[in-house]
Amino acid sequence: MKTRFLLHEEELPHRWYNVAADLDRPLDPPLDPRTNEPLSPEALAALFPRTCIEQEMCSDRFVDIPEPVQEVYRRWRPTPLQRAVNLERALGTPARIYFKYEGGSPTGSHKANTAVAQAYYNMVEGTKRLTTETGAGQWGSALAFACANFGLECTVFMVRVSYDQKPYRRAMIRLFGAKILPSPSSRTQAGQAVLAMHPDSPGSLGIAISEAIEEALHGERTKYSLGSVLNHVLLHQTVIGLEAIQQLDLAGEWPDVVVGCVGGGSNFAGLALPFFGEAQAGRRSRPRFLAVEPVVCPTLTRGEFRYDFGDTARLTPLLKMYTLGADFVPPAIHAGGLRYHGMAPIVSRLVADGVIEPLAYAQKEVFESAVLFAQSEGIIPAPETAHAVHAAIELARRCAETGEEKVILIGFSGHGHFDIAAYDSVVQGIG
Ligand SMILES: *Cc1c(COP(=O)(O)O)cnc(C)c1O
Repeated sequence: MKTRFLLHEEELPHRWYNVAADLDRPLDPPLDPRTNEPLSPEALAALFPRTCIEQEMCSDRFVDIPEPVQEVYRRWRPTPLQRAVNLERALGTPARIYFKYEGGSPTGSHKANTAVAQAYYNMVEGTKRLTTETGAGQWGSALAFACANFGLECTVFMVRVSYDQKPYRRAMIRLFGAKILPSPSSRTQAGQAVLAMHPDSPGSLGIAISEAIEEALHGERTKYSLGSVLNHVLLHQTVIGLEAIQQLDLAGEWPDVVVGCVGGGSNFAGLALPFFGEAQAGRRSRPRFLAVEPVVCPTLTRGEFRYDFGDTARLTPLLKMYTLGADFVPPAIHAGGLRYHGMAPIVSRLVADGVIEPLAYAQKEVFESAVLFAQSEGIIPAPETAHAVHAAIELARRCAETGEEKVILIGFSGHGHFDIAAYDSVVQGIG
């Protein structure tokens, strides 16, 4: 039985897919918080390169991937699509489970897909330094790698709890030549304000974003880079789903369910949106789309769909999204990449429209499924990815009861090699 579906280098997609072309009505625009009017592109120019701003507002169905970006992608892309036959056997399920493996990138997750594109556009437009925030460290390491690749400097504000919990991510960010600070830090006004009230703050993505934006606004030829949420980030990630469609063709399959974990929504959207596009074009049936989050940061399952700030200090434009409120500080779970109060406006819209179904699971059951996956497939999921794995396993168990032969596609956003301590403590019942 064939279980690995690989594409050749030359089959790497040459274009990203832009879902804006296929929505039945335009997205609600980002608003300027001072006027409550739609934000002008110029207002974003202090933070982002022109090309990314254009992509943020673009409605062309496809956007060319620049050749230098493709060249970097080709070092690890196309990524494998694999069938989890050993997991299927362990579950005794008639379901066929596939996973699209993004753990083989230089930094071990899907984040490199947009980091490389953003660093490239900044380099072309004359940026010297990028600032950013990072939760668990995957985004910080991806951007540090991408900046090193295109000769940019990089400053990373890392959420304090992860800075302390994940020393190896921290070291990796330094290894790629970036500067790293724990957030909240005393370097910015936003950080100082939080520290004055909560000296022991574990930090949050919202706080770290405020710090990185402030740092970019004060720096010379310095711009800011965001690893999720925004339309252009989701656009860059669609290379995942575009490859997966070709690979499922090789397998002679079309998914009944596409499942991914959601922090800001980028890996899930990157996988799911091209499948949505195929369905909108009338070529294929629309799969069920399941977006999985932690119960302790239940943005989609318990949040409100409204305009909110992307950060704690309220420096960002207002985005129409599901949100737990910009002040929400989630507890320190191991899936640091899923600790965000908001959600990508594109994912939020599709949840509000009933196209994407949100689900929330608790850490313990998520890790139990991740351990089962690791033991059967030999691949250790990142704690974030483990949420998608758990949802897929639950579905497959149901198929075992009903006898349904569903095809389940998992977005395997990254490996958990830097999270072994988390596995150890959860397995021993102390995490
Ligand atoms: C950052 C991260 C996530 C969550 O971010 P999204 O933008 O929702 O994809 C999920 N998985 C991994 C491995 C990550 O690094």
